[in-house]
Formats: sequence, C-alpha cells, structure tokens
Amino acid sequence: MSFVHLFRRYLREQGLPVTQQREAIAEVVFNSPEHLSVEDIEKKLRERGERIGKATIYRTLETLVRSGLVEEHDFGEGFKRYEHLFGQKPVREHLICTECGKVVDMHSTELHRVQDEAARQQGFLPARYRLQIYGLCADCRAAGAELRWEGLSCPIETV
Ligand SMILES: [Zn+2]
Ligand SMILES: [Zn+2]
Repeated sequence: MSFVHLFRRYLREQGLPVTQQREAIAEVVFNSPEHLSVEDIEKKLRERGERIGKATIYRTLETLVRSGLVEEHDFGEGFKRYEHLFGQKPVREHLICTECGKVVDMHSTELHRVQDEAARQQGFLPARYRLQIYGLCADCRAAGAELRWEGLSCPIETV
C-alpha cells in the first residue's frame, strides 16, 4: 500500500508541481520503517536507479514535513532524521543508541499519562511532546559496549 497519492494531493493543494523526483523521495521515506538520514535516502534512491541531488532531497523533505506526513527528528548527531507517520501515533518516545546510532521507537501510554498530568499541574495544555532516551541498545550491550560518561568524573573539587 503506497501513500504517495496523499503527498500528490498535498502538492496539488499547495499549487506545487508534482514531479517524479518528489514522488520517488516520498516513496522511499514512506516505504521505510527506519529513521532515515538524507544520506540513507540518497542511497535508497540510488538503489532504485534514481539520481537525485541533495538539494532536491532536502527541499522535498521540508515539504513532506510541512504536509504532516513525515516527522523530522534531531537526535543530536549533527544531522536530521526523517520518519513517516503512517500507522503511528503522533506521541513519540525514542531510544537512541550512543554507540551504533540505532534509533528505536518506544511507546508507553503510562508515560504519556504521567507527562500529561505533570504538564496540567502547571496549568499547561499539552499538544505533543518528544522524549529521547540516550544509552546503549541491546546489541551493543551484548557486544560488550559500555556507557561512556563524558562529563567530569567527579564534580567535587578535590584540589
Ligand atoms: Zn547500539
Ligand atoms: Zn520514531
């Protein structure tokens, strides 16, 4: 099932040209369950025999994000990642492995409820939120990776 027709409809509604390149980029993002970087997208396009420049990819991703079909993430890696929102709730929690860079979605309605409550206690009406947990994934842990702490080893002045 392809969702590309939704993007096509959005482009038409916005008076933007529906191009084969834009559709190819949307298809790559829609068909992947991963959190794709621009590099990943470029690679997948190449595998499909499409040669599309980075500038076009960036512009199309911006449009996809504006359409509400794709979400942009910044996991502090120095680049953005993109994920489509089909079949997913807009409430997101992410587990990010600092060793291999793997990003896994995590859903917890319990966590959502607690955050909602905490916000409301401040008189705040929450609409959406993001939670990012950094650490080591199961594979990296199994491979013997250890957490690296990059701050002061001891925050107390010992002279
Ligand atoms: Zn990992
Ligand atoms: Zn995600």
